[in-house]
Amino acid sequence: MYTEPLLIPFQKYDAIHHPLKDQMLATLSEVISGGIYLFGERTTAFESAYAAYCGTRHAVGVGSGLDALVLSLKALGIGPGDEVIIPANTYIATVMAVSHVGAIPVLVEPLEHTFNMDPTRCKAAITERTRAIVPVHLFGLPCEIPSFMQMAEEHGLYVIEDNAQAHGAAYGGKRTGGWGHLNATSFHPGKNLGALGDGGAVTTNDEELAVNVRMWGNYGSSEKYFNRVQGFNSRLDEIQAAILGLKLERLDSWNAERRSIARTYTDGLSATGDLWLPTEIQHTLHVYHRYVIRTQQRDALRAYLAQKGIGTMIHYPVPPHLQQAYGSQWRRGMFPITERMADTSLSLPVYPGLSSEEIQLVIHSIHEFFN
Ligand SMILES: *Cc1c(COP(=O)(O)O)cnc(C)c1O
Repeated sequence: MYTEPLLIPFQKYDAIHHPLKDQMLATLSEVISGGIYLFGERTTAFESAYAAYCGTRHAVGVGSGLDALVLSLKALGIGPGDEVIIPANTYIATVMAVSHVGAIPVLVEPLEHTFNMDPTRCKAAITERTRAIVPVHLFGLPCEIPSFMQMAEEHGLYVIEDNAQAHGAAYGGKRTGGWGHLNATSFHPGKNLGALGDGGAVTTNDEELAVNVRMWGNYGSSEKYFNRVQGFNSRLDEIQAAILGLKLERLDSWNAERRSIARTYTDGLSATGDLWLPTEIQHTLHVYHRYVIRTQQRDALRAYLAQKGIGTMIHYPVPPHLQQAYGSQWRRGMFPITERMADTSLSLPVYPGLSSEEIQLVIHSIHEFFN
């Protein structure tokens, strides 16, 4: 059966990649001819540029965002018996990273208006077994990172930021991905800074930790053929590093475009039906990885927009604690705020290149639905 392509797809890369295509092809050609595909100068150059962007001394390129989290936990020596506090409302990778090192994920509910982990609840979840807090800047909105840093300091804990959704966001003028002892990020193609495949990085100011993360991602080896620990193979390659280097220079202007789209949505959708719109928090720079609205009529609205040719997504339809992967470790009702978010959230298209006409059509269609 032939189905019409969506008028406005949920995600589109044309405006990002088309203007860079010639440069990307030239770079690819150079990498092919150069004959160095791993541990080359493009990886080093991107690591330096990305560290500088985050305001940290070091960045280590790795294979994915999940790996960035796992290698960070490993580098800190976190494992069986240790508790790691993470948001209940996050992408599953944050939870799985903790499980993969054998530690215990301790889930904490979000604040209703920010979607991000509630600092008060986080503090209450600290026990004598807690080793680290992994806050997430969900949808591009910085979490209360200064509070998490302070409680970590008071209790002798590590903070690992999960900055996968917030490249370029800032709290009090200081970029996310530069606050924690270690900061993990993803360059999955759909993130604000995305590769043409998988990639990730860990940033830090601590040289010893940077060396440790690199060792864990390179078979536990800092010196060829000498393996200190039972590590992993997780490295950023030259091609992805070169592409990311080209894209990093444009990240701020793409984020500005995302913010402008978000402003238009927020102006156009205020006081519409029972909609809850994303909030901007004082002193933070939100980079709108996602523009997430909430309504009791989520499924009907989503179907209505689909019929108008407008693509939307749900982030996330099933929260981590209710996923089959975690069996009966948690039960429905244990994290009611997170569960309500899963039942009422809807993400609208937001990406560089989305035109004013397209944005107006989305707004108009939502008004139509509620009328
Ligand atoms: C995307 C994402 C990850 C995982 O990144 P991958 O590169 O897909 O492994 C981790 N945490 C959050 C919050 C994410 O959005």
